[in-house]
Amino acid sequence: MSKIGVFICHCGENIGATVDCAKVAEAAGHMEGVAFATDYKYMCSDPGQSLIKNAIKEHGLDGVVIGACSPRMHEPTFRRACAEAGLNPYLCEIANLREHCSWVHPKCEETTQKAIEIVHGLVEKVRRNTPLTPIHVPITKKALVIGGGIAGIQASLDIANSGHKVILIEKEPSIGGHMSQLSETFPTLDCSQCILTPRMVEVAQHPNITLYTYAELESLSGFIGNFEAKIRLKAKSIDESVCTGCGLCTTKCPQKKIPSEFNEGLGKRTAIYVPFPQAVPNKPVIDKEHCMHYRTGKCGVCEKVCPTHAIRFGQEDRIITEQVGAVVVTTGFNVLGTDFFPEYGYGRYADVITGLQFERLASASGPTLGEIRRPSDGTVPKKIVFIACCGSRDPAKGIPYCSKICCMYTAKHAMLYQHKVHDGESYVFYMDIRAGGKNYEEFVRRAIDEDHVNYVRGRVARVYEKDGKLIVKGVDTLLGATPVEIEADMVVLATAGVSNKGAEELAQKLHISYDPYKFFAEAHPKLRPVETNTAGIFLAGACQAPKDIPETVSTASGAAAKVAALFSQPDLVREPLIAVVNRCAPPVFSTCVGCFMCQTACPYQAIEREEIKDRKGNVIKVVAKVNPGLCQGCGTCVAFCRSKSIDLQGFSNQQMFAEVEALLETTNE
Ligand code: SF4
Ligand code: SF4
Ligand code: SF4
Ligand code: SF4
Repeated sequence: MSKIGVFICHCGENIGATVDCAKVAEAAGHMEGVAFATDYKYMCSDPGQSLIKNAIKEHGLDGVVIGACSPRMHEPTFRRACAEAGLNPYLCEIANLREHCSWVHPKCEETTQKAIEIVHGLVEKVRRNTPLTPIHVPITKKALVIGGGIAGIQASLDIANSGHKVILIEKEPSIGGHMSQLSETFPTLDCSQCILTPRMVEVAQHPNITLYTYAELESLSGFIGNFEAKIRLKAKSIDESVCTGCGLCTTKCPQKKIPSEFNEGLGKRTAIYVPFPQAVPNKPVIDKEHCMHYRTGKCGVCEKVCPTHAIRFGQEDRIITEQVGAVVVTTGFNVLGTDFFPEYGYGRYADVITGLQFERLASASGPTLGEIRRPSDGTVPKKIVFIACCGSRDPAKGIPYCSKICCMYTAKHAMLYQHKVHDGESYVFYMDIRAGGKNYEEFVRRAIDEDHVNYVRGRVARVYEKDGKLIVKGVDTLLGATPVEIEADMVVLATAGVSNKGAEELAQKLHISYDPYKFFAEAHPKLRPVETNTAGIFLAGACQAPKDIPETVSTASGAAAKVAALFSQPDLVREPLIAVVNRCAPPVFSTCVGCFMCQTACPYQAIEREEIKDRKGNVIKVVAKVNPGLCQGCGTCVAFCRSKSIDLQGFSNQQMFAEVEALLETTNE
């Protein structure tokens, strides 16, 4: 290329205060192949872009170098401006004068000289650029949603209502997640089940949603727009198409003493069971671990009583395959294991319970039908101590983060208790109150001022039993670390929210990243909060970090909007900056020797095998071929190929060497 334009941006003071931009433009004007060079205060602004477009047209530029901020910031903006002026956008390169120069050096002659060198490198690169064409990939307009809690329900409904098919998989026998276990929700105190169950039913009845419960992702392959999901449908031991959900089997099953997961161990269930009365689907599954038939070969009562002969003891897991274009991960969270709190006596004293267990006691569908009763003897507790931050913000327990919801649900629990037990006394031990949501602060104030909940600022050191009472020993830091001892009938621990069991394994199946606490990582915390680094895979809800219900629902709708935007395109347009294996004329066909070192090295499984055949159809050579839909342009394969048969479009060896040589040449001058 011989008519290159160089445009140096001051980025306000960001570059202009440190680098002499006019001098850089002046020096660029003397570089080989440069036909036009100038500087401007804000090149990304409307006048700045017009300046570039006009120069391209006026001077007939066939390449452009913009000296500005990081290409991560404005490369698409400048490439679009070039395209609008009729220049192939891949003939535009960004010289990063901000992050690589002005931000890391003081104002001096050498800083300006370094800026000139960076620009020179990019001028040499752009001289060797070739026009590239974006890649078009077809899109399968069907989404997979993993996890049937409120996030998965919301995301599924939003995608389905935008006219696209959804496969929703949930590993438990029913959708609903943790929200279905809650009594009331803060700060409005509306009944959780009342707002959730209509949506669960809507999911089950929606013509665009296929629901698989008791199902888990086995594997995911492919790429954005074209994923292949293998799903394990775990054997429920019933034929759902025949079962009417009459429930007779669950009433007759003799195995009645199994702790109910839904009631957090405070109630019992049978071996054939529906997790809760409002479950969707409302059909039972057999828990093979506890069923006498599976354990001893005896019993079979459910089979005998079932009026529709729906029991299938011989049923096995099935693996099904679904083609999907996008995936939304909504696998939620868990609460910290109870063995974390030996000092609070969880597991030792029946009346020390978790917040989630308290939810089940307070819930009208719970084991006590909404009455707050002590698990030990069924009496009404007259004094309850709630302990916030059990595990959270405690580096000693390995959880330095705030679980975000505990302050609020503890206030709600104390409030609910005061509403149900009018002569009861409640205490909340807290570190500080974090009530940063709409109407949250007012909600906590209501608990203190109107419901007379006693808030004690300080940590609890120990809970122990004395004369049938639980003694909660802590300090009140607002009274100068005064020791406090409260004799309580029940203690409720606001246990930390942690990542869900199996999160790490799922992340590996999906090729997405996770943070040190095994919460899934978003692509950018501010600008791409529901995207992952793997294109086409989105996140919503508490699988990312602890979240309350409004935030969970917002992220679910956000992820669904991303999926709908993806599906609204006729096909997928991708950057052409991908690897290509060279092709020569027969009889050589390619310098690729078929060693497939590149295939071993590629982190995205983008290298395939291609057979080259003669006219008679005989295979004469097997060479590497890059799948343009999968390739992320990382360049790893290029470094591995010993015969230099593979190159990265836009970053060819020739371009990179020219850039480096230009830098060295200027430096040595
Ligand atoms: Fe219960 Fe199993 Fe007996 Fe059926 S066979 S009634 S599930 S114990
Ligand atoms: Fe279904 Fe038969 Fe059980 Fe009724 S008795 S819920 S039809 S499996
Ligand atoms: Fe071909 Fe190079 Fe890949 Fe070997 S490493 S298969 S030579 S492209
Ligand atoms: Fe795989 Fe990266 Fe090579 Fe693309 S550039 S084929 S993603 S190694």
